[in-house]
Amino acid sequence: MDDYGPHEAALVGAADDSYALTATDVARRYGRFWALRDCTFALAEGRVAALVGPNGAGKTTLLNVLCGFVQPDRGRLRFDGADLTRLRPHRLASLGIARTLQGVGLFPGLTVLENVMVGGTRHARAGFWSGVAGVGRSDRDEGALRDKALAALDRAGVPGMDDRLPGQLSFAHRKRVALARALVAEPRLLLLDEPASGLTEGELPELGELISQLAADACVVVVEHRMDLMMSVCDSIAVLDFGKLIAFGPPRQVQANPAVTTAYLGVADPGTEEAGPEEPSAEEPGTGHPGAEKPHG
Ligand code: ATP
Repeated sequence: MDDYGPHEAALVGAADDSYALTATDVARRYGRFWALRDCTFALAEGRVAALVGPNGAGKTTLLNVLCGFVQPDRGRLRFDGADLTRLRPHRLASLGIARTLQGVGLFPGLTVLENVMVGGTRHARAGFWSGVAGVGRSDRDEGALRDKALAALDRAGVPGMDDRLPGQLSFAHRKRVALARALVAEPRLLLLDEPASGLTEGELPELGELISQLAADACVVVVEHRMDLMMSVCDSIAVLDFGKLIAFGPPRQVQANPAVTTAYLGVADPGTEEAGPEEPSAEEPGTGHPGAEKPHG
């Protein structure tokens, strides 16, 4: 994590081909205010980036834009040569993109193994659900999917629990199963939404190790409030405030950035203080952000 050159280049918004993921001037509004604006950054393969910022800063919106859950109103997104700007969620898996949700989101009536197999239908010609319905079922496909699901559970640190129901597992283990469900699709861009939420302090180092391992063959973008975890695990930290990317770079550099301190301490920034919830002009997106409050985590 000593080579910080690419991150510094990303600060000036270069949409360079050497980056796996690039976002250029991405903006998204809800009604009259912009939840995200002028958001430009780039991430190389094998890197972990955190999205942090006070409540309502736009972290979830950016994650949702990256995975096609919401469409950007402006800007461009590219991953691995593919244009994600008009991405629809059903194309995620085929582009090698997976995300976890803030909650656990497992099907309570399916076993752990079945829950994970649901995430891997990209690789099975006869998908898991058609197998369940008995339509176009292929034992070989289902066996291969089963093996991938078991391997994903192993990788996520929850081996030997495949026959249990989610309700029989601890919260930390359920979160790992949800992660395994994302991993079974063998994603090359992995989006994690608050992976540490609900975990104890003692469970964080293991999670940190796991996230680092996952970056071996993927770009990882993590929304997380646990700054100590992000400082130790991430190659880059992107700080959002009132929908704007106010800092992006290696953790120590971002930590020393006065704009970040201002955002977290809740000191009024003269540039945003006056902005109201009015419709911004096409040239200058406004910052009105009625839902925002500070500070957070
Ligand atoms: P938190 O840390 O509290 O989860 P966040 O940084 O993830 O916050 P977002 O959830 O992205 O922030 O929200 C950014 C802004 O956009 C907030 O002011 C929020 O109220 C608003 N917002 C988000 N989703 C919607 C929506 N579907 N409709 C209207 N406003 C929304």
